Amino acid sequence: YKHPGLPPAPIATPGIASIKAALNPDKTGAYTWWSYMFKARQNNAGWRIDYFFISKEQFLQQIEQNGFLEYAVYNNNFYGTPRKFVEEKLASGKNVILEIEVQGALQIKKLFPGAIFIFITPESYGELCSRLRSRGTETEDIIENRLAIAKKEAPNALLYDYIIVNRDGCVKQAAEEILACVKAEGLRPVANREVIATYFE
Ligand code: 5GP
Repeated sequence: YKHPGLPPAPIATPGIASIKAALNPDKTGAYTWWSYMFKARQNNAGWRIDYFFISKEQFLQQIEQNGFLEYAVYNNNFYGTPRKFVEEKLASGKNVILEIEVQGALQIKKLFPGAIFIFITPESYGELCSRLRSRGTETEDIIENRLAIAKKEAPNALLYDYIIVNRDGCVKQAAEEILACVKAEGLRPVANREVIATYFE
């Protein structure tokens, strides 16, 4: 999927961004959607474009116009998933993958009870600490705050359907595991009612 009006994203972190890239929407038929956010950021490797950046005013306007499927304030930044794109993709029979934090996931769970929830985490809290520090995109204050958020989010992992441990250097494996979750979900009897129905034709 080509994001309209944006150059291809230079991927600089060993985190979810690289899993996204490894998912290869063209091959998998899955789509990851980029969020709206009203903060730009720079890291050691230069600008990293993960988001459509909009101003706070534009963001609030989108909320007012019901433009978001879900949104959340995370670490004093606003993040939101555009409703229109997701609804269009779902209507055309595509899977949509959203890379969102826990508050947003809980909103999506209410809207789409049948959605699959995958909790993605490094192998340990210590590893999370060193990854956030090494990506060099944030100040120490912000990192401390993110780590505190991560501690609060962690117990929610038990509300998810799957957990994927994104080990250092194993991005491809994490991407494959996401696809395995999607595949397993499609193998549930409730997802294949039409096959059962043929017994009664
Ligand atoms: P980062 O600033 O590190 O890219 O993202 C911070 C957190 O916000 C991550 O947990 C990421 O998954 C989450 N996030 C990114 N986009 C969205 C979004 O559209 N909605 C929600 N709820 N969370 C998002």
